[in-house]
Amino acid sequence: MTVEKLIQEVKSGEIKFVRLQITDINGMLKNVEVPSKMLPQILEKGAMFDGSSIDGFVRIEESDMYLKPDVNTYATLPWDGNQGKTIRLICDVFKPDGSPFEGDPRYVLKKVIERASKLGYEAFAGPEPEFFIIKREKDCVGSNGRFLDMGSYFDLLPVDGGEEVRKKIVLSLQEMGFEVEAAHHEVAPSQHEIDFRYTDILKTADNIQTFKWVVKTISIVNGLHATFMPKPFEGVAGSGMHVHLSLFSKGKNAFHDPENEHGLSEVALNFIGGIIAHAKEITAITNPTINSYKRLLPGFEAPVNISWALGNRSAMIRIPSAREEATRLEFRSPDPTCNPYLALALTLAAGLDGIENHITPPNPVDENIFDMKGSRKKQLMIDNLPQNLWQALEYTRASEFVKDVLGQHILSTFIRAKESDWNEFGAAVTNWEVKKYMDLY
Ligand code: GLU
Ligand code: MG
Ligand code: MG
Repeated sequence: MTVEKLIQEVKSGEIKFVRLQITDINGMLKNVEVPSKMLPQILEKGAMFDGSSIDGFVRIEESDMYLKPDVNTYATLPWDGNQGKTIRLICDVFKPDGSPFEGDPRYVLKKVIERASKLGYEAFAGPEPEFFIIKREKDCVGSNGRFLDMGSYFDLLPVDGGEEVRKKIVLSLQEMGFEVEAAHHEVAPSQHEIDFRYTDILKTADNIQTFKWVVKTISIVNGLHATFMPKPFEGVAGSGMHVHLSLFSKGKNAFHDPENEHGLSEVALNFIGGIIAHAKEITAITNPTINSYKRLLPGFEAPVNISWALGNRSAMIRIPSAREEATRLEFRSPDPTCNPYLALALTLAAGLDGIENHITPPNPVDENIFDMKGSRKKQLMIDNLPQNLWQALEYTRASEFVKDVLGQHILSTFIRAKESDWNEFGAAVTNWEVKKYMDLY
């Protein structure tokens, strides 16, 4: 899409409304709807909004901010056609003086992309977001709680109760320009996964935001609820958002080297080394909720340790078997509650840091780490991921690397919000405590 084409479409009267979208620091998608006749002016001058009302943006004294739409993000809303065609445009955020706003997560990612480009690389990413489609709270009866079905990996009807709505989600995503590659029931009851094609890392971050929005909206329209909460149910698998990453240089996959061990280039190994070196510092951003850490436990295909491997799904980074142009790594710790712009920015920056500083990763670990004894882990120098949000925040707070990438504004706002969550959680008397102690003591 180009500005000229878009203005033409508006003038022809085809588009009725435009949703202008941004993402706040917590990863929440926000939007303002404008009648399409406003668009030519907005494309030229931007749309003013109150930045102080968006979580983590600015203080009330400096509240005027501007949205500038990125026309490459043009998509038609499949569910909003009754009152005329509605499109959405993702925006960048600017200050009144016309400079980019350093608190805009999309800007943070763009800066790291620029750094990659200066080093001669273009970064690509493909996510695998998992989620649950469950009953609405008010529709729950009986002992199954909110499960819609008790299906498992690759199940279909009648076991897979989400099949129909999942198909509708896929159709909507396709209408919005997604190249969906696979959709299936996941391991846990009522859990699903829809995979879409990898693309450049900025578009992937935009896509993740759109994806969550579509999944939730189509589920609501169909009388259901979709959740990306990492561990909504105890005792069954949680929802991750593995991210596949690769770098291209002059149109060629820079992670592939047929001459090197495992077919992986020095660049790939250093990139892995960088992510491993910074893993603890970035976990609070890739796994930003209290609940995120209930997923990172042994036995559910989610990583617990900082390690990499070739096939092993218990490792934090796995190298899928495809080589040549499809050579990539799969970073398995992130979950879908992360702000994708910030999480991808830090992951890419960690990898680039590995390349710039020639960080050699430890040896790959192709044993099941979930079953491994502590002494063996020590021998292989396998460290733990942070075990809760507080621990994760301690590493983030002390990290110059994270501060450099996120900037002071986002870092302090993020930490303040998360500390407040931690304090609230610390004060909560949970069901677990009541069950464990109330009758015993
Ligand atoms: N649900 C698992 C996780 O929490 C991942 C399962 C898979 O490998 O797709 O990461
Ligand atoms: Mg999966
Ligand atoms: Mg995966």
